[in-house]
Amino acid sequence: MAHANNRRNFMAKTVQSVGLAALGGMLWSGYTDSVKASPLVLRPPGALKEEDFLTACIKCGLCAEACVNRDTNIDKETGLPRPSTLQMAKGGDAVLIGTPFFVPTEVPCYMCEDIPCVPVCPSGTLDMASLLNENQELDINKATMGLAVVHKESCIAFWGIQCDACYRACPLLDVAITLEHQKNDRTGKHAFLLPVVHDNACTGCGLCEMACVTEEPAIFVLPNDVAKGKAGDHYVKGWDAKDQERVGNAHSQTTTTEVSKREAKDYLNMEVEY
Ligand code: SF4
Ligand code: SF4
Repeated sequence: MAHANNRRNFMAKTVQSVGLAALGGMLWSGYTDSVKASPLVLRPPGALKEEDFLTACIKCGLCAEACVNRDTNIDKETGLPRPSTLQMAKGGDAVLIGTPFFVPTEVPCYMCEDIPCVPVCPSGTLDMASLLNENQELDINKATMGLAVVHKESCIAFWGIQCDACYRACPLLDVAITLEHQKNDRTGKHAFLLPVVHDNACTGCGLCEMACVTEEPAIFVLPNDVAKGKAGDHYVKGWDAKDQERVGNAHSQTTTTEVSKREAKDYLNMEVEY
């Protein structure tokens, strides 16, 4: 009897643990699905593409540690250390647990010249080679963490109110964000000063998003894949000599069918009765 009870207990525990494992598996796969379905996360400088990042990062936290302990991490106004830009994801962050990310409205990336978060990465998930300039030096301006996007309807500069908060906050002043002058036809005597983001220079640091004065930032950083459209290779800029070179390199491809051997007038009028 005792033997049967032991066996029942053993079976019950096995079933329980299988059930828990299955439940855990379902929860985990649901969780990883939701993480994969959350494409808005911003990663540190030099990060691999998101799908490669998720498998390459060993979740050691060295990048976030280097970020918070960097020499430059002192608030100029208070003289106190600032919180870390890089956070390691916890449950509920909608980011794969243990991976580094940042939220510009909490702490943007301050674009440290020596980029201390990158060389410490032992797995190559933060790729130094992607941040080298023509002199083979680490250059934070090469970072492509994301792209700032302006929402024209909520940006008060587009209402005609003078505001250049994002423009002045940009570490690549007059390069990544410029101000475009436009006539204000509504008043007839004022000018719009409109922020324009240039995607070949914006690193996605988020300093503009942090500085934006509207209740919800009217300029915000999105991952490049989300922020950018794609015209397609078959569109060529006729006014751009470099883009025109692509036409010279293009190959035409012709498919010959029985119908295409004939002239259009031969077959378009077939079986038409007048
Ligand atoms: S470059 Fe940005 S993410 Fe890296 S250490 Fe500096 S503030 Fe942190
Ligand atoms: S240092 Fe590299 S491997 Fe470690 S958590 Fe940061 S990105 Fe991942």
